[in-house]
Amino acid sequence: MKYMFSVDIEGISGVVSWSQADMSNKEYDKARESMIKETNAAVKGAYDGGAGSVLVVDGHANMRNLIPEELDERVEVILGTPRVKCMMEGLNKDIAGVGFIGYHSSAVSYGTLAHTYSGSVVDKIYVGEKMASEFALNSYLASQYGVPVFFISGDQETIKEAQELYPGIPHVITKYSTGRYSARCIHPKKVRKKIREEIKRAVREKESKLITPKETVIRASFTDTGKLDNLELLPEVDRTGPKEFVIDTGDFEKNYKIFRACTMLAHAASQ
Ligand SMILES: [Zn+2]
Repeated sequence: MKYMFSVDIEGISGVVSWSQADMSNKEYDKARESMIKETNAAVKGAYDGGAGSVLVVDGHANMRNLIPEELDERVEVILGTPRVKCMMEGLNKDIAGVGFIGYHSSAVSYGTLAHTYSGSVVDKIYVGEKMASEFALNSYLASQYGVPVFFISGDQETIKEAQELYPGIPHVITKYSTGRYSARCIHPKKVRKKIREEIKRAVREKESKLITPKETVIRASFTDTGKLDNLELLPEVDRTGPKEFVIDTGDFEKNYKIFRACTMLAHAASQ
């Protein structure tokens, strides 16, 4: 059976500041090393639990954080951007389950480095009536391919949000957020050991759940009005206020892709 991991950096053990997540900063190197090691722990756990193959998807910033040479040699890794499915590129019906490593909580939460896709652009995003995190959006996207979710690691706020959608989701808390730029961190070696054990158990016991959105409509607000001025170019986008808009094609994956195009247009407008 083939398993997939989507990997971000903000929820990795020891990461509490944007400097650590920024490739141009010298603090990044250590955070990257931890990201790679936590990914390898996840991969080992999946194979220990009986996985036949593992696909790893780099999901942070320019999506070239994981260094193939330093990854477990049994994996294939998706690197680089842009990609249509973003942090979930590679999704298809053959994947038995997806796990999320180093994830962070949504823009409106108390979590460390909380944001949704782009802290400078996205203020809030709802799918139906539910506030959505990256975990939620990516899990919903996986559900469109019939792929269930089996694991998540990140700070306690990230896990709390994940449990609202999947009570009892196998997880590892990497740190306890004590503020947007601070956290009480668990030692990385302990985190990696737990990740490997918990994923082994989750894969072996086939603990996974399809997380399907109840409604497909996306409602969002961006951080300033200038970021919406280009969005009206897209016929599927209904601007409902100075900073608010709705996307409602009736199809979740279509709405998700249009939303991501909106974030890119908003980025372009900021430059
Ligand atoms: Zn990230």
